[in-house]
Amino acid sequence: MSKRKLLIANWKMNPKLASDAVRRCARIRVVAKFGNVQVVVCPPAVFLSMLIQKTNGTKFSLGAQDAFWESEGPYNGEISPAQLASLDVSHVILGHSERRALGETDEDVRKKLTLALEYPFRTVLCIGERERDSEGAYLSFLENQIRAVLARVSRSKVKRLIIAYEPIWAVGARAKKADTPENLLEVVIFIRKVLSDMLGKQLAFSVPILYGGSVTAANAEAFLKNGGVEGLLVGRSSIDPKEFISIIKTAHRV
Ligand code: PEP
Repeated sequence: MSKRKLLIANWKMNPKLASDAVRRCARIRVVAKFGNVQVVVCPPAVFLSMLIQKTNGTKFSLGAQDAFWESEGPYNGEISPAQLASLDVSHVILGHSERRALGETDEDVRKKLTLALEYPFRTVLCIGERERDSEGAYLSFLENQIRAVLARVSRSKVKRLIIAYEPIWAVGARAKKADTPENLLEVVIFIRKVLSDMLGKQLAFSVPILYGGSVTAANAEAFLKNGGVEGLLVGRSSIDPKEFISIIKTAHRV
């Protein structure tokens, strides 16, 4: 059997109705049963509690799309990692480009990540350049992003870290196109080198790296086979159960 792959469905602010979220989860749970594929669904936080109860005992887990940098207190509307941990979420996404577009800085992400890594769930740190240039300046941008956020992370917490490489130009409805597996592989090697410089080789290679950005049922196989990644972070294609089920089946097969 092939190496275990991680598929994270990032539903963003979809769907509108709780009943629809339940229906979508019910469809995914039927196929999320393969031992070599770990499926995590990150719905809007408001649906988490209900979906966790409904999916209890099934093969896929639930995650969150963000978490704040304090555990509790006067932070209207925020959700803390302590609260998410109390729901038993398996993963929390941080630093997503759509949050950064709303004003989140590397320093905000650093504070969030530092606290999140205290909790037992896996923390998924999103990084990605706004533009790809032919001189390779985007690689320096990625390195700066990683160093800014991980600079003071304790080595003992790195086992809970996952990095999702999501080039911003490839993410969401305004994406120009997906990355190519060939370029992704180069970026993954580069990220591992930066992590090795910071953490040492052994620890660097223990951090799973995911790709996200216009993943579809048609291109998932190429990314998983040739992109050097341990899995995929899937946005729009995860909102459509049929498309996401097809990606799960692909991950099982490759
Ligand atoms: C995402 O939102 O993390 C993402 C990768 O989006 P999409 O797959 O829609 O490009």
